[in-house]
Amino acid sequence: MNKIHGNLVNGEWIQSGDIRPNINPSDLSDVIGEYVHAGVAQVDQAVQAASVAQSKWARAGAGLRADVLERIGIELIQRSEELGRMLAREEGKTLKEAQAEAQRAGQLFKFFAGEALRLTGESLAPLREGVDVEVLRTPVGVVGLITPWNFPLGIPAWKIAPALAFGNSVVFKPAELVPASAWALAEIIHRSGIPAGVFNMVVGGPDVGVALTTHPRLNAVSFTGSVHVGEKIAQAVMGRGVSLQLELGGKNALLVMDDARLDVAVEAALNGSFMSCGQRCTASSRLIVSSGIHDAFVEGLTNRIRSLKIGNALEAGVDLGPMASEFQLANSVKYVEIGQSEGAELLAGGSRLERATRGYYFSPALFVETNNAMRINREEIFGPVASVIRVADLDEALAVANDSDFGLSAGIITTNPHTAAEFKRGCEAGMLSVNLPTAGMDFHAPMTGRKRSSFGPPEKGTYARDFYTAIKVVHQQWT
Ligand code: NAD
Repeated sequence: MNKIHGNLVNGEWIQSGDIRPNINPSDLSDVIGEYVHAGVAQVDQAVQAASVAQSKWARAGAGLRADVLERIGIELIQRSEELGRMLAREEGKTLKEAQAEAQRAGQLFKFFAGEALRLTGESLAPLREGVDVEVLRTPVGVVGLITPWNFPLGIPAWKIAPALAFGNSVVFKPAELVPASAWALAEIIHRSGIPAGVFNMVVGGPDVGVALTTHPRLNAVSFTGSVHVGEKIAQAVMGRGVSLQLELGGKNALLVMDDARLDVAVEAALNGSFMSCGQRCTASSRLIVSSGIHDAFVEGLTNRIRSLKIGNALEAGVDLGPMASEFQLANSVKYVEIGQSEGAELLAGGSRLERATRGYYFSPALFVETNNAMRINREEIFGPVASVIRVADLDEALAVANDSDFGLSAGIITTNPHTAAEFKRGCEAGMLSVNLPTAGMDFHAPMTGRKRSSFGPPEKGTYARDFYTAIKVVHQQWT
Protein backbone atom coordinates (compact mmCIF):
# COMPACT_ATOMS: atom_id res chain seq x y z
CA MET A 1 0.00 0.00 0.00
CA ASN A 2 1.22 3.53 -0.77
CA LYS A 3 2.42 5.59 2.16
CA ILE A 4 0.11 8.49 2.98
CA HIS A 5 2.01 11.59 4.07
CA GLY A 6 0.09 13.39 6.80
CA ASN A 7 0.39 16.72 8.56
CA LEU A 8 2.36 17.36 11.73
CA VAL A 9 0.28 18.74 14.59
CA ASN A 10 1.44 18.77 18.22
CA GLY A 11 4.13 16.17 17.53
CA GLU A 12 1.70 13.70 15.84
CA TRP A 13 1.28 12.82 12.17
CA ILE A 14 -2.38 13.43 11.30
CA GLN A 15 -3.67 11.37 8.36
CA SER A 16 -7.19 12.75 8.08
CA GLY A 17 -8.03 15.15 5.25
CA ASP A 18 -8.13 15.13 1.47
CA ILE A 19 -5.46 12.94 -0.09
CA ARG A 20 -3.87 14.44 -3.22
CA PRO A 21 -1.31 12.95 -5.60
CA ASN A 22 1.96 14.83 -6.13
CA ILE A 23 2.78 14.79 -9.86
CA ASN A 24 6.21 15.14 -11.50
CA PRO A 25 6.11 18.07 -13.98
CA SER A 26 8.84 16.41 -16.10
CA ASP A 27 6.70 13.27 -16.50
CA LEU A 28 2.99 13.58 -15.78
CA SER A 29 2.65 9.78 -15.51
CA ASP A 30 4.97 9.75 -12.48
CA VAL A 31 3.09 10.06 -9.16
CA ILE A 32 5.66 10.98 -6.52
CA GLY A 33 3.45 10.20 -3.54
CA GLU A 34 0.18 10.94 -1.80
CA TYR A 35 -0.12 13.87 0.56
CA VAL A 36 -2.88 14.87 2.94
CA HIS A 37 -4.26 18.40 2.67
CA ALA A 38 -5.08 19.72 6.11
CA GLY A 39 -8.49 21.10 6.87
CA VAL A 40 -9.33 24.27 8.73
CA ALA A 41 -9.81 22.28 11.98
CA GLN A 42 -6.21 21.06 11.84
CA VAL A 43 -4.99 24.64 11.45
CA ASP A 44 -6.78 25.49 14.68
CA GLN A 45 -5.26 22.47 16.46
CA ALA A 46 -1.81 23.39 15.17
CA VAL A 47 -2.04 27.02 16.33
CA GLN A 48 -3.39 25.95 19.75
CA ALA A 49 -0.56 23.43 20.15
CA ALA A 50 2.02 26.03 19.10
CA SER A 51 0.56 28.50 21.55
CA VAL A 52 0.85 26.02 24.46
CA ALA A 53 4.39 24.91 23.53
CA GLN A 54 5.92 28.32 22.84
CA SER A 55 6.78 29.69 26.27
CA LYS A 56 8.48 26.46 27.37
CA TRP A 57 10.56 26.45 24.18
CA ALA A 58 11.53 30.07 24.80
CA ARG A 59 12.57 29.29 28.38
CA ALA A 60 14.41 26.07 27.46
CA GLY A 61 17.50 28.10 26.59
CA ALA A 62 19.45 28.97 23.49
CA GLY A 63 21.75 25.96 23.95
CA LEU A 64 18.95 23.46 23.29
CA ARG A 65 17.60 25.51 20.39
CA ALA A 66 21.06 25.72 18.81
CA ASP A 67 21.57 21.95 19.19
CA VAL A 68 18.22 21.17 17.56
CA LEU A 69 18.91 23.50 14.62
CA GLU A 70 22.43 22.15 14.20
CA ARG A 71 21.11 18.57 14.00
CA ILE A 72 18.52 19.57 11.38
CA GLY A 73 21.18 21.39 9.34
CA ILE A 74 23.60 18.45 9.46
CA GLU A 75 20.96 15.98 8.28
CA LEU A 76 19.83 18.24 5.43
CA ILE A 77 23.42 18.57 4.22
CA GLN A 78 24.15 14.86 4.58
CA ARG A 79 21.01 13.98 2.61
CA SER A 80 21.22 16.85 0.10
CA GLU A 81 21.66 14.55 -2.92
CA GLU A 82 18.58 12.49 -2.10
CA LEU A 83 16.47 15.49 -1.01
CA GLY A 84 17.59 17.47 -4.06
CA ARG A 85 16.52 14.60 -6.32
CA MET A 86 13.06 14.64 -4.79
CA LEU A 87 12.87 18.42 -5.04
CA ALA A 88 13.83 18.30 -8.75
CA ARG A 89 11.26 15.56 -9.30
CA GLU A 90 8.37 17.51 -7.79
CA GLU A 91 9.26 21.09 -8.79
CA GLY A 92 11.11 20.67 -12.09
CA LYS A 93 14.34 22.59 -11.46
CA THR A 94 17.48 20.73 -12.50
CA LEU A 95 19.17 18.21 -10.24
CA LYS A 96 22.18 20.51 -9.82
CA GLU A 97 20.05 23.48 -8.75
CA ALA A 98 17.86 21.32 -6.51
CA GLN A 99 20.76 19.64 -4.72
CA ALA A 100 22.42 23.02 -4.17
CA GLU A 101 19.14 24.22 -2.66
CA ALA A 102 18.96 21.26 -0.26
CA GLN A 103 22.56 21.97 0.76
CA ARG A 104 21.73 25.65 1.29
CA ALA A 105 18.72 24.74 3.44
CA GLY A 106 21.10 22.82 5.72
CA GLN A 107 23.53 25.73 5.82
CA LEU A 108 20.69 28.06 6.81
CA PHE A 109 19.78 25.88 9.80
CA LYS A 110 23.43 25.76 10.85
CA PHE A 111 23.75 29.54 10.47
CA PHE A 112 20.71 30.13 12.68
CA ALA A 113 21.97 27.59 15.23
CA GLY A 114 24.82 30.09 15.72
CA GLU A 115 22.43 33.03 15.69
CA ALA A 116 20.44 31.46 18.55
CA LEU A 117 23.61 31.71 20.66
CA ARG A 118 24.51 35.21 19.47
CA LEU A 119 21.22 36.91 20.38
CA THR A 120 21.96 39.86 22.65
CA GLY A 121 20.12 42.67 24.35
CA GLU A 122 21.44 46.02 25.45
CA SER A 123 22.09 47.85 28.67
CA LEU A 124 21.67 51.65 28.38
CA ALA A 125 23.66 54.23 30.31
CA PRO A 126 21.59 55.04 33.46
CA LEU A 127 19.87 58.42 33.22
CA ARG A 128 18.69 58.45 36.85
CA GLU A 129 20.87 57.26 39.71
CA GLY A 130 20.04 53.66 40.60
CA VAL A 131 17.72 53.10 37.64
CA ASP A 132 19.03 50.60 35.09
CA VAL A 133 17.55 50.36 31.62
CA GLU A 134 17.69 47.10 29.67
CA VAL A 135 16.54 46.39 26.14
CA LEU A 136 15.69 42.71 25.73
CA ARG A 137 14.97 40.75 22.58
CA THR A 138 12.17 38.28 23.26
CA PRO A 139 10.27 35.84 21.02
CA VAL A 140 7.26 37.17 19.13
CA GLY A 141 5.18 34.07 19.97
CA VAL A 142 3.30 31.85 17.51
CA VAL A 143 4.49 32.49 13.96
CA GLY A 144 2.63 31.43 10.80
CA LEU A 145 4.95 30.77 7.87
CA ILE A 146 3.47 30.63 4.37
CA THR A 147 5.74 29.76 1.46
CA PRO A 148 5.62 29.50 -2.37
CA TRP A 149 6.56 26.47 -4.47
CA ASN A 150 9.64 27.81 -6.26
CA PHE A 151 12.18 27.15 -3.46
CA PRO A 152 10.52 24.24 -1.64
CA LEU A 153 13.37 23.77 0.86
CA GLY A 154 15.26 27.07 0.74
CA ILE A 155 12.45 29.49 1.64
CA PRO A 156 10.94 27.28 4.39
CA ALA A 157 14.46 26.93 5.85
CA TRP A 158 15.12 30.66 5.97
CA LYS A 159 11.83 31.25 7.79
CA ILE A 160 11.62 28.19 10.09
CA ALA A 161 15.25 28.32 11.28
CA PRO A 162 15.25 31.91 12.64
CA ALA A 163 11.71 31.53 14.02
CA LEU A 164 12.82 28.52 16.10
CA ALA A 165 16.26 29.93 16.92
CA PHE A 166 14.79 32.90 18.75
CA GLY A 167 12.24 30.93 20.78
CA ASN A 168 9.08 31.18 18.68
CA SER A 169 6.77 28.29 17.85
CA VAL A 170 5.80 27.67 14.25
CA VAL A 171 2.85 26.70 12.09
CA PHE A 172 4.26 26.13 8.61
CA LYS A 173 1.98 26.13 5.56
CA PRO A 174 3.98 25.09 2.50
CA ALA A 175 2.75 25.53 -1.06
CA GLU A 176 0.37 22.74 -2.04
CA LEU A 177 2.37 22.10 -5.24
CA VAL A 178 5.50 20.85 -3.43
CA PRO A 179 4.40 18.78 -0.42
CA ALA A 180 7.21 16.19 -0.69
CA SER A 181 10.01 18.61 0.14
CA ALA A 182 7.93 20.16 2.92
CA TRP A 183 7.07 16.74 4.35
CA ALA A 184 10.73 15.62 4.28
CA LEU A 185 11.80 18.80 6.04
CA ALA A 186 9.04 18.45 8.66
CA GLU A 187 10.03 14.83 9.26
CA ILE A 188 13.67 15.85 9.88
CA ILE A 189 12.56 18.62 12.26
CA HIS A 190 10.21 16.19 14.06
CA ARG A 191 13.13 13.80 14.77
CA SER A 192 15.53 16.54 15.87
CA GLY A 193 14.61 16.52 19.55
CA ILE A 194 12.25 19.48 19.26
CA PRO A 195 9.42 19.38 21.85
CA ALA A 196 5.92 18.48 20.57
CA GLY A 197 3.89 21.46 19.38
CA VAL A 198 6.84 23.81 18.81
CA PHE A 199 6.87 23.02 15.08
CA ASN A 200 3.70 22.13 13.17
CA MET A 201 3.02 21.69 9.46
CA VAL A 202 -0.31 21.98 7.66
CA VAL A 203 -0.20 21.33 3.91
CA GLY A 204 -2.94 22.98 1.90
CA GLY A 205 -4.10 25.75 -0.39
CA PRO A 206 -5.58 29.20 0.12
CA ASP A 207 -8.27 27.94 2.55
CA VAL A 208 -5.58 26.68 4.92
CA GLY A 209 -3.62 29.93 4.46
CA VAL A 210 -6.70 32.01 5.29
CA ALA A 211 -7.47 29.88 8.38
CA LEU A 212 -3.91 30.44 9.56
CA THR A 213 -3.65 34.18 8.93
CA THR A 214 -7.03 34.88 10.52
CA HIS A 215 -6.44 32.73 13.60
CA PRO A 216 -6.83 34.87 16.75
CA ARG A 217 -3.86 33.27 18.55
CA LEU A 218 -1.34 33.99 15.85
CA ASN A 219 1.28 36.64 16.72
CA ALA A 220 3.17 37.00 13.44
CA VAL A 221 2.99 36.02 9.77
CA SER A 222 5.91 35.74 7.40
CA PHE A 223 4.76 35.24 3.82
CA THR A 224 6.62 34.78 0.55
CA GLY A 225 4.57 34.70 -2.62
CA SER A 226 2.69 36.87 -5.07
CA VAL A 227 1.78 40.53 -4.55
CA HIS A 228 -1.88 39.63 -4.99
CA VAL A 229 -1.92 37.13 -2.09
CA GLY A 230 0.46 39.25 0.01
CA GLU A 231 -1.99 42.15 -0.16
CA LYS A 232 -4.87 39.86 0.90
CA ILE A 233 -2.83 38.69 3.90
CA ALA A 234 -2.01 42.29 4.83
CA GLN A 235 -5.76 43.02 4.90
CA ALA A 236 -6.45 39.87 6.93
CA VAL A 237 -4.01 40.79 9.71
CA MET A 238 -4.47 44.57 9.66
CA GLY A 239 -5.48 46.08 12.99
CA ARG A 240 -5.07 42.79 14.88
CA GLY A 241 -1.61 43.42 16.33
CA VAL A 242 -0.04 40.69 14.18
CA SER A 243 3.54 41.34 13.00
CA LEU A 244 3.81 41.03 9.24
CA GLN A 245 6.65 40.31 6.84
CA LEU A 246 5.96 40.04 3.10
CA GLU A 247 8.44 39.05 0.39
CA LEU A 248 6.65 39.39 -2.92
CA GLY A 249 7.23 39.59 -6.65
CA GLY A 250 9.68 41.48 -8.82
CA LYS A 251 10.24 42.89 -12.30
CA ASN A 252 13.98 42.90 -12.06
CA ALA A 253 16.29 44.83 -14.36
CA LEU A 254 19.74 43.85 -15.56
CA LEU A 255 21.61 46.86 -16.98
CA VAL A 256 24.24 46.13 -19.62
CA MET A 257 26.56 49.07 -20.28
CA ASP A 258 28.65 49.71 -23.40
CA ASP A 259 31.86 49.01 -21.48
CA ALA A 260 30.63 45.61 -20.25
CA ARG A 261 32.51 42.41 -20.99
CA LEU A 262 30.23 40.76 -23.51
CA ASP A 263 30.73 37.21 -22.19
CA VAL A 264 29.97 38.31 -18.62
CA ALA A 265 26.84 40.15 -19.78
CA VAL A 266 25.52 37.23 -21.82
CA GLU A 267 26.11 34.65 -19.09
CA ALA A 268 24.60 36.87 -16.37
CA ALA A 269 21.50 37.47 -18.51
CA LEU A 270 21.18 33.81 -19.45
CA ASN A 271 21.42 32.69 -15.85
CA GLY A 272 19.33 35.51 -14.36
CA SER A 273 16.53 35.36 -16.92
CA PHE A 274 16.16 31.67 -17.65
CA MET A 275 17.62 29.31 -15.02
CA SER A 276 14.92 27.57 -12.98
CA CYS A 277 12.73 28.49 -15.98
CA GLY A 278 12.68 32.11 -14.82
CA GLN A 279 10.64 31.04 -11.79
CA ARG A 280 12.70 33.02 -9.33
CA CYS A 281 11.46 36.22 -7.73
CA THR A 282 14.86 37.76 -8.49
CA ALA A 283 14.92 36.65 -12.17
CA SER A 284 16.01 39.35 -14.65
CA SER A 285 12.99 39.97 -16.83
CA ARG A 286 14.03 43.39 -18.20
CA LEU A 287 17.41 43.51 -19.94
CA ILE A 288 18.20 47.21 -20.24
CA VAL A 289 21.03 47.50 -22.75
CA SER A 290 22.94 50.55 -23.94
CA SER A 291 22.96 51.06 -27.69
CA GLY A 292 26.70 50.51 -28.32
CA ILE A 293 26.65 46.91 -27.12
CA HIS A 294 22.99 46.15 -27.90
CA ASP A 295 23.34 44.18 -31.15
CA ALA A 296 26.33 42.08 -30.04
CA PHE A 297 24.62 41.32 -26.72
CA VAL A 298 21.35 40.27 -28.37
CA GLU A 299 23.21 38.05 -30.84
CA GLY A 300 25.31 36.43 -28.10
CA LEU A 301 22.32 35.84 -25.83
CA THR A 302 20.16 34.42 -28.64
CA ASN A 303 22.90 31.94 -29.55
CA ARG A 304 23.23 30.84 -25.93
CA ILE A 305 19.45 30.43 -25.54
CA ARG A 306 19.41 28.19 -28.61
CA SER A 307 22.20 26.04 -27.13
CA LEU A 308 20.27 25.28 -23.93
CA LYS A 309 19.29 21.67 -23.38
CA ILE A 310 15.70 21.51 -22.16
CA GLY A 311 14.39 18.23 -20.79
CA ASN A 312 13.60 16.00 -17.83
CA ALA A 313 14.87 17.73 -14.68
CA LEU A 314 16.42 14.48 -13.44
CA GLU A 315 18.53 13.89 -16.56
CA ALA A 316 22.24 14.72 -16.47
CA GLY A 317 23.31 17.57 -18.76
CA VAL A 318 19.90 19.25 -18.83
CA ASP A 319 20.09 23.05 -18.44
CA LEU A 320 16.37 23.67 -17.98
CA GLY A 321 13.66 21.38 -16.71
CA PRO A 322 9.93 21.89 -17.26
CA MET A 323 7.81 24.68 -15.82
CA ALA A 324 6.48 23.74 -12.38
CA SER A 325 2.81 23.44 -13.35
CA GLU A 326 0.27 23.68 -16.14
CA PHE A 327 -0.65 27.13 -14.80
CA GLN A 328 2.95 28.32 -15.01
CA LEU A 329 3.29 27.05 -18.57
CA ALA A 330 0.00 28.62 -19.69
CA ASN A 331 0.98 31.91 -18.05
CA SER A 332 4.26 32.14 -19.97
CA VAL A 333 2.50 31.25 -23.25
CA LYS A 334 -0.04 34.00 -22.45
CA TYR A 335 2.66 36.64 -21.90
CA VAL A 336 4.42 35.67 -25.15
CA GLU A 337 1.12 36.37 -26.93
CA ILE A 338 0.74 39.64 -25.03
CA GLY A 339 4.28 40.70 -26.04
CA GLN A 340 3.59 39.93 -29.69
CA SER A 341 0.29 41.78 -29.60
CA GLU A 342 2.11 44.80 -28.11
CA GLY A 343 4.50 44.87 -31.08
CA ALA A 344 7.59 43.38 -29.43
CA GLU A 345 9.77 41.22 -31.70
CA LEU A 346 10.10 37.60 -30.53
CA LEU A 347 13.66 36.57 -31.34
CA ALA A 348 13.83 33.16 -29.67
CA GLY A 349 11.61 30.51 -28.08
CA GLY A 350 8.22 31.15 -26.57
CA SER A 351 6.44 27.90 -27.34
CA ARG A 352 5.47 24.64 -25.71
CA LEU A 353 7.89 21.74 -26.33
CA GLU A 354 7.34 18.00 -26.68
CA ARG A 355 9.75 15.63 -24.95
CA ALA A 356 9.98 11.84 -24.49
CA THR A 357 7.69 12.10 -21.46
CA ARG A 358 4.64 14.35 -21.26
CA GLY A 359 5.52 17.41 -19.16
CA TYR A 360 5.31 21.19 -18.95
CA TYR A 361 8.19 21.97 -21.31
CA PHE A 362 8.65 25.46 -22.76
CA SER A 363 11.38 27.15 -24.78
CA PRO A 364 12.80 30.31 -23.15
CA ALA A 365 11.61 33.44 -24.91
CA LEU A 366 13.56 36.58 -25.77
CA PHE A 367 11.82 39.75 -26.94
CA VAL A 368 13.66 42.70 -28.52
CA GLU A 369 12.53 46.17 -29.58
CA THR A 370 10.43 46.52 -26.46
CA ASN A 371 9.69 49.56 -24.32
CA ASN A 372 9.06 49.91 -20.63
CA ALA A 373 5.38 50.78 -21.05
CA MET A 374 4.55 47.32 -22.42
CA ARG A 375 2.77 44.87 -20.10
CA ILE A 376 5.59 42.35 -20.61
CA ASN A 377 7.86 44.93 -18.94
CA ARG A 378 5.49 45.98 -16.17
CA GLU A 379 3.87 42.77 -14.88
CA GLU A 380 5.65 39.89 -13.18
CA ILE A 381 5.61 36.92 -15.60
CA PHE A 382 7.48 34.45 -13.38
CA GLY A 383 8.62 32.40 -16.34
CA PRO A 384 11.49 32.25 -18.87
CA VAL A 385 10.40 35.31 -20.82
CA ALA A 386 12.84 38.25 -20.98
CA SER A 387 12.70 41.54 -22.90
CA VAL A 388 15.50 43.75 -24.14
CA ILE A 389 14.99 47.51 -23.79
CA ARG A 390 17.49 49.65 -25.71
CA VAL A 391 18.75 52.81 -23.94
CA ALA A 392 21.27 55.57 -24.67
CA ASP A 393 23.27 55.69 -21.44
CA LEU A 394 23.39 55.01 -17.68
CA ASP A 395 20.99 57.85 -16.83
CA GLU A 396 18.32 56.48 -19.12
CA ALA A 397 19.04 52.93 -17.99
CA LEU A 398 18.52 53.88 -14.34
CA ALA A 399 15.37 55.84 -15.12
CA VAL A 400 13.89 52.84 -16.95
CA ALA A 401 14.99 50.38 -14.24
CA ASN A 402 13.35 52.52 -11.53
CA ASP A 403 10.15 53.05 -13.52
CA SER A 404 8.46 50.01 -11.99
CA ASP A 405 6.00 49.15 -9.21
CA PHE A 406 8.54 46.61 -8.00
CA GLY A 407 11.98 46.96 -6.42
CA LEU A 408 13.28 43.52 -5.55
CA SER A 409 16.63 42.96 -7.30
CA ALA A 410 18.64 44.63 -10.06
CA GLY A 411 22.09 44.23 -11.57
CA ILE A 412 24.62 46.00 -13.73
CA ILE A 413 27.32 44.69 -16.05
CA THR A 414 30.15 47.17 -16.42
CA THR A 415 33.93 47.35 -16.22
CA ASN A 416 33.79 50.86 -14.75
CA PRO A 417 33.64 51.05 -10.91
CA HIS A 418 32.28 54.63 -11.09
CA THR A 419 29.35 53.45 -13.19
CA ALA A 420 28.73 50.67 -10.66
CA ALA A 421 28.86 53.23 -7.83
CA GLU A 422 26.25 55.40 -9.61
CA PHE A 423 24.08 52.33 -10.03
CA LYS A 424 24.39 51.36 -6.35
CA ARG A 425 23.42 54.90 -5.35
CA GLY A 426 20.58 55.41 -7.80
CA CYS A 427 18.88 52.06 -8.22
CA GLU A 428 15.61 51.64 -6.29
CA ALA A 429 15.81 47.91 -5.55
CA GLY A 430 16.59 46.08 -2.32
CA MET A 431 19.19 43.66 -3.70
CA LEU A 432 21.83 44.71 -6.21
CA SER A 433 24.47 42.81 -8.14
CA VAL A 434 27.49 43.96 -10.12
CA ASN A 435 28.84 41.70 -12.89
CA LEU A 436 26.68 38.86 -11.53
CA PRO A 437 23.17 37.60 -12.28
CA THR A 438 20.30 39.35 -10.44
CA ALA A 439 19.34 36.00 -8.88
CA GLY A 440 21.36 33.77 -6.57
CA MET A 441 22.02 35.42 -3.21
CA ASP A 442 24.38 34.01 -0.58
CA PHE A 443 22.64 32.22 2.29
CA HIS A 444 24.01 34.47 5.04
CA ALA A 445 22.98 37.73 3.32
CA PRO A 446 19.69 39.54 4.02
CA MET A 447 16.83 39.43 1.55
CA THR A 448 14.72 42.52 1.03
CA GLY A 449 12.94 44.59 -1.57
CA ARG A 450 11.46 48.04 -2.05
CA LYS A 451 8.09 49.35 -3.29
CA ARG A 452 5.50 46.57 -3.80
CA SER A 453 8.13 43.81 -3.58
CA SER A 454 8.47 43.72 0.20
CA PHE A 455 6.96 44.79 3.47
CA GLY A 456 8.47 44.61 6.95
CA PRO A 457 12.01 43.81 8.11
CA PRO A 458 14.42 41.88 5.84
CA GLU A 459 14.63 38.10 5.89
CA LYS A 460 17.78 36.01 6.36
CA GLY A 461 21.14 36.87 7.83
CA THR A 462 21.56 38.58 11.16
CA TYR A 463 18.70 40.92 10.18
CA ALA A 464 16.20 38.06 10.64
CA ARG A 465 16.16 38.79 14.37
CA ASP A 466 14.34 42.07 13.69
CA PHE A 467 11.23 40.19 12.63
CA TYR A 468 11.45 37.09 14.82
CA THR A 469 12.07 38.94 18.10
CA ALA A 470 10.15 41.68 19.86
CA ILE A 471 11.91 44.31 21.92
CA LYS A 472 11.07 44.76 25.60
CA VAL A 473 12.42 47.73 27.49
CA VAL A 474 12.91 47.33 31.26
CA HIS A 475 13.53 50.17 33.74
CA GLN A 476 14.56 48.73 37.11
CA GLN A 477 15.62 49.87 40.54
CA TRP A 478 16.85 47.70 43.44
CA THR A 479 17.00 49.84 46.54
P1 NAD B 1 1.15 32.54 -4.34
O1 NAD B 1 1.04 33.91 -3.78
O2 NAD B 1 0.11 32.07 -5.28
O3 NAD B 1 1.14 31.47 -3.13
C1 NAD B 1 2.08 31.54 -2.08
C2 NAD B 1 1.52 30.81 -0.87
O4 NAD B 1 0.35 31.48 -0.39
C3 NAD B 1 1.08 29.36 -1.14
O5 NAD B 1 1.46 28.58 -0.04
C4 NAD B 1 -0.44 29.49 -1.24
O6 NAD B 1 -1.14 28.30 -0.94
C5 NAD B 1 -0.73 30.56 -0.19
N1 NAD B 1 -1.98 31.29 -0.33
C6 NAD B 1 -2.71 31.50 -1.45
N2 NAD B 1 -3.78 32.28 -1.17
C7 NAD B 1 -3.71 32.58 0.15
C8 NAD B 1 -4.50 33.39 1.03
N3 NAD B 1 -5.59 34.05 0.60
N4 NAD B 1 -4.12 33.51 2.32
C9 NAD B 1 -3.01 32.88 2.78
N5 NAD B 1 -2.22 32.09 1.98
C10 NAD B 1 -2.56 31.95 0.69
O7 NAD B 1 2.62 32.43 -4.96
P2 NAD B 1 3.31 31.21 -5.70
O8 NAD B 1 2.69 31.04 -7.05
O9 NAD B 1 3.39 30.04 -4.79
O10 NAD B 1 4.81 31.77 -5.86
C11 NAD B 1 5.20 32.66 -6.84
C12 NAD B 1 5.28 34.08 -6.30
O11 NAD B 1 6.16 34.12 -5.18
C13 NAD B 1 5.90 35.04 -7.32
O12 NAD B 1 5.15 36.23 -7.30
C14 NAD B 1 7.31 35.27 -6.79
O13 NAD B 1 7.89 36.49 -7.17
C15 NAD B 1 7.08 35.21 -5.32
N6 NAD B 1 8.33 34.93 -4.61
C16 NAD B 1 8.93 35.94 -3.89
C17 NAD B 1 10.15 35.72 -3.24
C18 NAD B 1 10.81 36.81 -2.44
O14 NAD B 1 11.65 36.50 -1.59
N7 NAD B 1 10.48 38.07 -2.66
C19 NAD B 1 10.75 34.46 -3.31
C20 NAD B 1 10.11 33.45 -4.06
C21 NAD B 1 8.90 33.69 -4.69
